[in-house]
Amino acid sequence: MFPKKKSEYCESSKIKFIGEMTEILTDEYFMKQALSEAKIAFDKGEVPIGAIVVCDKKIIARAHNMTETLNDVTAHAEMQAITAAASTLGGKYLIDCTMYVTVEPCPMCAGALAWAQIDRLVYGADDEKRGYTKLAPRTLHPKTKVQSGVMAEESTQMMKKFFKELR
Ligand code: ZN
Repeated sequence: MFPKKKSEYCESSKIKFIGEMTEILTDEYFMKQALSEAKIAFDKGEVPIGAIVVCDKKIIARAHNMTETLNDVTAHAEMQAITAAASTLGGKYLIDCTMYVTVEPCPMCAGALAWAQIDRLVYGADDEKRGYTKLAPRTLHPKTKVQSGVMAEESTQMMKKFFKELR
C-alpha cells in the first residue's frame, strides 16, 4: 500500500535509497563496468575482454584488451589495468584491491596479478583453452581470493559474437 502519512513516506524512500546503495557495491555492479570496457574493445575490433580494479569501493582503473591497437601480445586487459591501477595508487602493489575481469585470466596475467599481490580476483567466463586454472593453477598469490562465474553468460555472448563476426 502507498504510505499515507508523510513520515511513513520518508521512511520508505530512505529504505529504497539504502537498497540502491547496497546494489552499487555488488560484484555484478563492478562486473558490468568491466563488461562495458569489453564492449569498447569489441567496437575497436579487439578481442572483447575488459578489466577494472576496485580499491576501497572505488574504481581506480579501467582497461580493455589492446593487443591489436598496440601491436603487443602482452596488452591484455588485466595487464593494462594493473599498470593503470599502480599509477593511480602511486605504488606497485595492489594489496587491498579487487580485479574484475570478464574472462578468466591467462597464465601471464595471473602471474602479473601475483606480482601485484592483488587481494581478490573476480572473473566472468571460464577460458577452457588458455585460462590459468587449467594451464597454471598455482600461479596466483596464495592469499588472493578468487570468485568465478560472475555475469559469465554476458561475457561469453560477447566473445561468441566477436568470433562469429570475424569469420
Ligand atoms: Zn592474459
